[in-house]
Amino acid sequence: MLPIKYFCAYCGKICKQHRGLLKHQRTRHFKCQVQNHEYCRYPFDSLQALKQHYYKMHGALKRIPHASKCCDQMDVSGMQGLKQEDIDRFLRWVKQRTKKTAKYVQQKQTPQE
Ligand SMILES: [Zn+2]
Ligand SMILES: [Zn+2]
Repeated sequence: MLPIKYFCAYCGKICKQHRGLLKHQRTRHFKCQVQNHEYCRYPFDSLQALKQHYYKMHGALKRIPHASKCCDQMDVSGMQGLKQEDIDRFLRWVKQRTKKTAKYVQQKQTPQE
């Protein structure tokens, strides 16, 4: 049984620390994908912020950067905003991928970092 505390709902990356998960999401998923643009080098704090940036600068954001297809419409930050069904789907996906049964270990609410 693989105990999982934190995972990225967008790509399935498993993290040991909540802080690490937030950093991963900011740099991997909340970052503008338009290259060579002066204002587009910095990661955003949330998907909403990235969407607003796209709306203003590039038009609608069609796809969350580097997200697996099923998670395109999700709006989560760290583990916040995840529904039980999202967690269940993730656990099934881990099992398919690794052949191991995973268990989600819910942590106490981490204060906003
Ligand atoms: Zn991710
Ligand atoms: Zn941009």
